[in-house]
Amino acid sequence: AGIGEAVLEARDLSRRFGGVDAVAQVSLALSRGRLTGLIGPNGAGKSTTLAMLAGTLPASGGSVWLDGRDITSVPAYCRARLGVVRTFQLASEFKRLTVMENLLSAVPQQRGESLRGALLGRRYWAADEGVSIERAWDMLDGFGLRAQADEYAGDLSGGQRRLVEIMRALMAQPEVLLLDEPMAGVHPKLATEIGQHLIELCHSGMTIGVVEHELAFMDRFCDPVVVMAQGRVLAAGTMAALRQQPEVVEAYLVG
Ligand code: ADP
Ligand code: MG
Repeated sequence: AGIGEAVLEARDLSRRFGGVDAVAQVSLALSRGRLTGLIGPNGAGKSTTLAMLAGTLPASGGSVWLDGRDITSVPAYCRARLGVVRTFQLASEFKRLTVMENLLSAVPQQRGESLRGALLGRRYWAADEGVSIERAWDMLDGFGLRAQADEYAGDLSGGQRRLVEIMRALMAQPEVLLLDEPMAGVHPKLATEIGQHLIELCHSGMTIGVVEHELAFMDRFCDPVVVMAQGRVLAAGTMAALRQQPEVVEAYLVG
């Protein structure tokens, strides 16, 4: 499995809401070891696309592929076991758990051979509480939240809560991580740290797709970047290349 090879793919993915094409024939690939950005104006279909990749929203047409296998009909909880994990805003019940409890409750309850292992012919990890606690402490150190381990998630700052959401997703050791505007409401300094963290995860082989509004974040961390507008992919490439394309500049960069 080489760097840059397509891991998660959308092929002609579409979604209609009522009579509206929220997403129309979107094809894109998230490649191994890369932090792929997804930008576009409000209502472009970014969140809808991400939800169809994660399986939390069914597609009206087209298909989703993981490691060359069609997973279009695989429900979200099974995709998570296959290694495709998205973040969620912390629901109220998780705000009443401590940060550490949040991390430990995020670990899948299965042992031994996972569905992923069964389907892809590999051994995956066996859930083991000792291993999980160790991983949780490592993660808290990495995200600078060790001191907050016993605080209630609901008492954290908005930015710290975003980190808990990301850490919860990472506890499952995903192969593919999908993030929908993880920097929203996050202090710029913390946003930079999150970006650096995501880059490190990519360097260790993770595949990450991130919807984000901040162009500065895309400039600094994402390659490639996919530009969506009105439910379609307008262009894809490095930010430097995208800035040279008049239709992209018109649709998003100044629009
Ligand atoms: P983005 O994340 O790029 O801002 P979305 O994917 O959220 O865009 O939305 C794309 C389009 O689909 C918008 O026109 C939005 O109003 C519409 N849409 C999204 N979710 C729903 C829904 N659950 N029901 C009806 N329309 C929706
Ligand atoms: Mg959105």
